[in-house]
Amino acid sequence: METWPLGVFASIDAGLGVRLEVAHALGVKTIHLHTPQQESRTEGQAREFLAQLQDSGMTITCVFGGFEGESYADIPTVKKTVGLVPAATRNARLAEMKEIADFARRLAVNVVGLHIGFVPHDRDDADYRAIVALAQDLCAHAIAQDQAIHLETGQEPADILLQFLDDVDRGNLFINFDPANMILYGVGEPIEALEKLGSRVRSVHCKDATWSDAPGVSWGTEVPLGEGAVGMETYLRTLQKIGYSGPLTIEREIPQEPARQKTEIAAALDLLQSLKTKIET
Ligand code: MG
Repeated sequence: METWPLGVFASIDAGLGVRLEVAHALGVKTIHLHTPQQESRTEGQAREFLAQLQDSGMTITCVFGGFEGESYADIPTVKKTVGLVPAATRNARLAEMKEIADFARRLAVNVVGLHIGFVPHDRDDADYRAIVALAQDLCAHAIAQDQAIHLETGQEPADILLQFLDDVDRGNLFINFDPANMILYGVGEPIEALEKLGSRVRSVHCKDATWSDAPGVSWGTEVPLGEGAVGMETYLRTLQKIGYSGPLTIEREIPQEPARQKTEIAAALDLLQSLKTKIET
């Protein structure tokens, strides 16, 4: 397989990605797909999506989970609403996440990604142990159908994420690294984090952001690729250094402005292509 095939984050009827036809028009061959809504996750729909993808020559390299009721309005709201962690929805979402993995299986996809939510930072916290057990439960469901689980970075500093992976201790649990999230959530310098996470990183997002005035308290700002604080050339060189050769999946989370989203992703594809050439992968 080609080193660093370019891709985009795509959506069908939920999530912040571009539509499949836009992904196709942009000429990419790989996509991360935000899971469609529950009513669309049927056997028949899976066949239809697969046919559509085959026609356009695109491969899904990861299906991302997401849930009704999640809100990224601000950091405290993310804490309360996102992922498997919030107690009120924990069991129902774990069951739904398994069902999303089953849907990914129908799409012949062996990587399932998600924001697990804000993992408590204290290992002695009873809730921490409960989240470890929940992650083990999800990993067991996935391994039985030959799938890996990729946790999206963002809410945890790299050290805490590594500790969590070690505590879950499952061979099919890895990381989807999103450098912009490290900045948006204010949890650490992305390049330093990437070096620490190293071989645990098995998929990546290419997204950029600028720091907030109060990192960790208020959001940073997501910006077009190359215009933020990540440093795309250093990012790619670090990916090379840690031995990552998989897809580079662009995210630009402005679905409310589809024309601008498409233009900026096209520019991001040009940027990544020129860096790939420069770095000589
Ligand atoms: Mg991301």
